[in-house]
Amino acid sequence: MRYSALSIFLNGLRGNTAWKSAWRAPALKPHYDVIIVGGGGHGLATAYYLAKEFGIRNVAVLEKSYIGSGNVGRNTTIIRSNYLLPGNNPFYELSMKLWEGLEQDLNFNAMVSQRGVLNLFHSDAQCDAYTRRGNAMRLHGVDADLLDREQVREKLPFLNFENARFPIQGGLLQQRGGTVRHDGVAWGYARGADSMGVDIIQECEVTGIRRGNGKVIGVETSRGFVGCGKLALAVAGNSSQVAAMADMRLPIESHVLQAFVSEGLKPFIDCVVTFGAGHFYVSQSDKGGLVFGGDMDGYNSYAQRGNLATVEHVIEAGKAMIPALSRVRVLRSWGGIMDMSMDGSPIIDRTSIDNLYLNAGWCYGGFKATPASGFCFAHLIARNHAHAVTREMRLDRFERGYLIDEKGQGAQPNLH
Ligand SMILES: Cc1cc2nc3c(=O)[nH]c(=O)nc-3n(C[C@H](O)[C@H](O)[C@H](O)COP(=O)(O)OP(=O)(O)OC[C@H]3O[C@@H](n4cnc5c(N)ncnc54)[C@H](O)[C@@H]3O)c2cc1C
Repeated sequence: MRYSALSIFLNGLRGNTAWKSAWRAPALKPHYDVIIVGGGGHGLATAYYLAKEFGIRNVAVLEKSYIGSGNVGRNTTIIRSNYLLPGNNPFYELSMKLWEGLEQDLNFNAMVSQRGVLNLFHSDAQCDAYTRRGNAMRLHGVDADLLDREQVREKLPFLNFENARFPIQGGLLQQRGGTVRHDGVAWGYARGADSMGVDIIQECEVTGIRRGNGKVIGVETSRGFVGCGKLALAVAGNSSQVAAMADMRLPIESHVLQAFVSEGLKPFIDCVVTFGAGHFYVSQSDKGGLVFGGDMDGYNSYAQRGNLATVEHVIEAGKAMIPALSRVRVLRSWGGIMDMSMDGSPIIDRTSIDNLYLNAGWCYGGFKATPASGFCFAHLIARNHAHAVTREMRLDRFERGYLIDEKGQGAQPNLH
């Protein structure tokens, strides 16, 4: 069913009784050409592009809960392609280009809003680092503008310019960055993939990976065994656990990251803004709530909730950036499990088992990557070699020493 102004009008005339479910609830088949484990953004996007770009439609997405229950429905919705390193930049820019055409492509309103992402800087050294990053972006054909203090003040006058412990000197702006409604992305990809014949199986947990003759032959699930030609893992925060089912040990730690939403306020922040002297990022949703977050909780965990010390830490950073926030009430907060890699960059690669493919290590920046990740992972699965923009996102880069360490933090997963 295509969505359009006319379909809304006609369905309105029929009392909204003729709408069809956005995707089916199919029975599990005994065998698929490709099984994707994980019905998050990346798994669903992979299924969509496998069907659309590569004509592979005998595909199942197995999700242990409901789609969107993982990080794709828990993130702070920020998209951007303001990366420094050549191993990252072309990939995230491909993602940005796919975001720009996504709603037309999916025929689904994912509320893509290119309202701009502004990273504040507070010292000469930070100004140099952001200038360098902006230049690298421009050399890759990505938009970047360096704003001085007065330009930032004109845009966001409520920031703490006076008596600030961390005086704002300026900011790096990517105007094409912004926000996207996170669960709308999962729903849009699910609907698109389903319409091309992909089976989306919810409440179906993968509990084991069965092998024969050195290859994967299928998966054990909470609904029984399912055979497959190829198996693709896209389980984000559960990557280490699921890979262990194939006796693989990944260079990944799982950590909790929290997000917060305030009471609804009149519109006053028209972009995403990040604090450079601490870790804090905020945007304002269309309903008026401030959507914000900061550092991870800092310990390994598989719990989708965080603790109060980090709540205090994040809100302190927020108040240092916007003092007026001290009067605002927080309505809700939640946590998600982040698959933190050792260098802070993702892995899209084949594994030592021929027909087993891995998509993981998204850290806390994987939402913005969703379209390119799905596109490139589908390319890898269909063609058996990496897409040009993911050539450096190899699993063996950690043993070969070719890290993509965007922040220069070294093997400190909680700091990336
Ligand atoms: C609080 C928070 C804020 C964030 N903010 C941003 C942001 O602003 N911008 C950004 O770019 N990124 C952000 N991220 C990161 C981003 O959300 C993730 O990197 C990304 O969503 C991960 O990919 P995914 O969507 O496929 O993961 P998920 O949605 O987590 O999908 C993985 C799925 O696998 C399923 N699964 C796990 N194990 C099994 C199993 N054994 N069998 C079957 N299914 C299984 C899970 O149930 C889950 O649904 C944030 C994350 C959090 C938690």
